[in-house]
Amino acid sequence: MTETLTQSSVLTTRVKAALEACGVDASAYGTDRSSFSPLTGEVLAQLRSHGADEVDAAIGKADAAFKTWREVPAPERGNLIKRWGELLTEHKEDLAVIVQAEAGKITSEALGEVQEMIDICDFAVGQSRMLYGKTMPSERPGHRLMETWHPLGVVGVISAFNFPVAVYSWNTALALVCGDTVVWKPSEITMLSALASHALLARAVRECQAPADIHQLIVTDRVGGQLLVKDPRVALLSATGSVRMGREIAPQVAERFGRALLELGGNNAAIVSPTADLDLALRGIVFSAVGTAGQRCTSMRRLIVHESIVDQLTEKLVQAYGTLSIGSPLDEKNLVGPLVHERSFKDMEQALVDAQEQGGTILTGGKRVLADEFPNAYYVEPAIVRMPSQTQVVHDETFAPILYVVTYSDFDEAIALNNEVPQGLSSSVFTQDQGEAERFMAASGSDCGIANVNIGTSGAEIGGAFGGEKETGGGRESGSDSWKVYMRQATNTVNYSGKLPLAQGVEFI
Ligand code: NAD
Repeated sequence: MTETLTQSSVLTTRVKAALEACGVDASAYGTDRSSFSPLTGEVLAQLRSHGADEVDAAIGKADAAFKTWREVPAPERGNLIKRWGELLTEHKEDLAVIVQAEAGKITSEALGEVQEMIDICDFAVGQSRMLYGKTMPSERPGHRLMETWHPLGVVGVISAFNFPVAVYSWNTALALVCGDTVVWKPSEITMLSALASHALLARAVRECQAPADIHQLIVTDRVGGQLLVKDPRVALLSATGSVRMGREIAPQVAERFGRALLELGGNNAAIVSPTADLDLALRGIVFSAVGTAGQRCTSMRRLIVHESIVDQLTEKLVQAYGTLSIGSPLDEKNLVGPLVHERSFKDMEQALVDAQEQGGTILTGGKRVLADEFPNAYYVEPAIVRMPSQTQVVHDETFAPILYVVTYSDFDEAIALNNEVPQGLSSSVFTQDQGEAERFMAASGSDCGIANVNIGTSGAEIGGAFGGEKETGGGRESGSDSWKVYMRQATNTVNYSGKLPLAQGVEFI
C-alpha cells in the first residue's frame, strides 16, 4: 500500500509538472470533471467542463476565425504548423508523461505517439505548398479547364482515448494548413493530454500572430459532442472511436448534409503461411497483439494460421507471452500496461467466457494481475484463444489483448477468413511466397484499408493514408492525399476565345 501511495504521488507530481511545462493555465481546472489514471486509478486532476453555451460559442468563434484564416496564404499557414511541431519536439517528454498517465502507455509508445504528432506537422508543412489542382484539356477551343482547392470551413474533431493526441493532430495539422479552423472534442478519459496539446498550439498561434480563435478545445462528454455533430456550421466532422459511436453520429451528420470522416473499430488479422519466417512473424504478432495492452484500433485480434504450422507457432507464442512483464509503465521493464478502465476488463472477461462457450480453448492468459498492489487499476495477462472457427465473439472487436487463433488449409480460404468480419481496418500476411503476398494485396485479396506483408497490423507511418473499410467507416486521414477531405474542390472553365461554343456540340442562340 505504501508503494501504491508513493507511486501515486510520483505520478500526479510528474503530470502536474508536465502540464505546467506545456503551458496549461489555471482556468482549465475546476470541480466538475475528474481525470483518472489507469496506471493506479488515482485522480490526476479536477477539471472544469464546458456547458452547451460554451460549446456553441466555441463553434461560433471558429466559424468567425475561418473567414480570416482562409485568406492567409497556405505556406504562411504552414509556418504555424512548423512552430507547433517545434514546440511539440521541445515538449515531447512532457506530453508523453501526460499521455502515459492518462492512456496507460509504456514510455516508448507514449513517446512514439508524440513523435507521430511531430511527423504529421512536418508532413503538413510540406503539404502547405502542395495543395495542387489539375488542369485538364478542354474540348472547346480557346478554353481552359482546371480545378482549384479551397478551405472548407470549421472541422469538428472527436477523438478516442487510445490515441489521445496523434490522431487528433493528423486532422488538425492538415485542416489548419488547408485553411480550416478546428473545434476539438477529445475523449473524456484523456482531457489532460488534450489540454497540453491545445496549450502548445495556442502558444504557436500567439507567436505566429495567427487569428486567436482558429483552434478551440471543448471539455465535455458525448452529450456536448452531440452539439458539434449536429451543428450546421461544422463543415466536416472527423470522428474516431467505436463502431457504436459511428453508427450514432453518421446519420446525424448526413441529415444536415455535412461531411463525415469516420475512423472506427477494427478487427485485424494476420495470415501466417507455411513459408513464413516464423521468428520474424512471432515478433510482429506479439507487438501487434499485446502492444498498448491490445488497445490500438490496429491491434491484432485474429491469427489465421496454416494448419501445418499452427501447433509450432502457438507453442512459440505461448512461450513469448510468458516472458512479457506486465505492470505499471512507470517501471521501464514492463511491456504491458493496464486496461483503461474496469469496463474494459469486464468486456475482456465476458469475451473469454463467450469464446469458451463457442468452442474455444484459452492457451494462455486472461487473468487480472497486480490487483493487491493496484486495487483500482486493471492489469491483465494477454490471452491467446484457439477457436474452432470465427464464431460471433471473434467477429466483435473486444478492446483488450485477446488473440483468437484459427486455421486454414488453402490461401483463398485464409483471405476469405480475413475478410469475413464486418470491420475492415488493418491486415497482414507473413509469407516468403511472393505470389501469396501479391494475392493478399490484389483486388480480390484483403478488403482492409491497410494490407501489410511481413509486418504486423499495427504501427502505421504517417506518410500513408490511414483508415479502413466497411464498419471501420471508410475515412482516410494522415498522409498521401488525405488532405483533400479538408478542402472543397471547384472546377473552373475559362473562355478566352471571344466566342461561346457549348460543350457536347450543343447549339443554342
Ligand atoms: P468511443 O466510441 O467510446 O468514444 C470515442 C469518442 O467519441 C469520445 O470522444 C466520445 O466522447 C465520443 N462519442 C461517443 N459517442 C458519441 C456521440 N453519440 N456523439 C458525440 N460524441 C460521441 O471510443 P473509445 O473507447 O474512446 O475508443 C476505442 C474505439 O475507438 C475502438 O473501437 C477503436 O478501434 C476505435 N479507434 C479507431 C481508430 C481508427 O483510426 N480507426 C483509432 C483509434 C480508436
